[in-house]
Amino acid sequence: MLIFKKAADIKDYLGKKNREKTGFVPTMGALHEGHLSLIEACRRDCDIVVVSIFVNPTQFNDPRDFEKYPVTTAKDVHLLTRAGVDLLFLPDVGEVYPEGLDNSYSYDLGGLDTRLEGRSRPGHFQGVSRVMHRLLGIIDPRHLYMGQKDYQQCMVVARLIDILQMRVTLHVCPTLRDMGGLALSSRNMRLTDEERLRARAIYAALRSICEEIHAGDTGDIIARAVGMIEDASMRVDYLTLADAKDLTEVRTWDGKQELVALAAAFMGEVRLIDNLVLSTRN
Ligand code: AMP
Repeated sequence: MLIFKKAADIKDYLGKKNREKTGFVPTMGALHEGHLSLIEACRRDCDIVVVSIFVNPTQFNDPRDFEKYPVTTAKDVHLLTRAGVDLLFLPDVGEVYPEGLDNSYSYDLGGLDTRLEGRSRPGHFQGVSRVMHRLLGIIDPRHLYMGQKDYQQCMVVARLIDILQMRVTLHVCPTLRDMGGLALSSRNMRLTDEERLRARAIYAALRSICEEIHAGDTGDIIARAVGMIEDASMRVDYLTLADAKDLTEVRTWDGKQELVALAAAFMGEVRLIDNLVLSTRN
């Protein structure tokens, strides 16, 4: 695996390669099986697999969350080498943002950036868009692999690709979970074993919504699911049903509209998110 720290160097290297079979998996490191599943999907489709590790400061609305974000670079490099990754882009902040961190960009995300995660984390999706704009500009892949675990992020990136008319196909990959259903996440490293067990209530709550849903008012179903998470001593940030295509909230279901159930909850100060698309019962 070749490791590049400079944007100009990786750009130059990839410039001599056939772009059609270049795939890209952006990450913030602290890698787990979920990340590796995206790499596996990328490897199946592409001849050149590029991974980035960059903890992007512009997408953290909470500075403490940024400071405490786990960094395990040596272990990550080992995992990526074993996974058969061709190129790792490992830039520092100045390399990604040579113009500085002050944000003059504003992307028209069609309201996606102000709902759900966007409402709880102001500026988050503008930061995600800014880093993805930059990374996609450097790597210029034809295939991009991201996880459904970050459902809203996938929608934002799809919109970004569309408004910037980039020549890249987004592949949304299924969420990997532990045996009890907890979605794998780098932030899980900050939980104790006992907290990880309790955090399974998020998946259980989402499942209960999928199982109990019926046409009509969804308020009672949601309230019961909120209770399940609270009974596990977590604080619910949001738990909601939304239209799977635009993430507008759905309180009364017509029995046909494609829905996604989305949750964000705090275990202590660690914020966890998850979702299930109802049609696929995943
Ligand atoms: P992150 O390092 O958290 O920015 O995640 C990098 C990519 O991995 C994103 O596209 C995430 O959606 C994806 N990802 C994170 N957790 C999982 C998971 N449990 N299963 C599948 N993909 C995931």
